[in-house]
Amino acid sequence: MTEDLNSIKLYTAADIIEAQILQKLLASEGITTTLKNENLQTGVGELPFVEMWPELWLLHLRDLDRARQLLNEFFNRNTASDWVCTICNERNPGSFDICWACTETSTDDEDNLTA
Ligand SMILES: [Zn+2]
Repeated sequence: MTEDLNSIKLYTAADIIEAQILQKLLASEGITTTLKNENLQTGVGELPFVEMWPELWLLHLRDLDRARQLLNEFFNRNTASDWVCTICNERNPGSFDICWACTETSTDDEDNLTA
């Protein structure tokens, strides 16, 4: 048995922002993940793109079902409209439940402000 068998690649993100959002989302549910390749995007031009996609790895196999469920819920919300964080004023895609910049959660009040 090696350590690699204890961690599971959960998701390959399109960019580091998405990866960090997902990591925070899972962390908010008590699920520990680690990001791989998160620092490689600064080396654009030197590495093949496919090698640079951030990967979200699950540390504990027991969290796998719950983590996959959370990811499904996350991506099923993609039809929601964008919202602007009232704390830091960053715009977030509707699929994001928490602000990518400061991790504040979205509320209905913010939808009214941006309408
Ligand atoms: Zn924010």
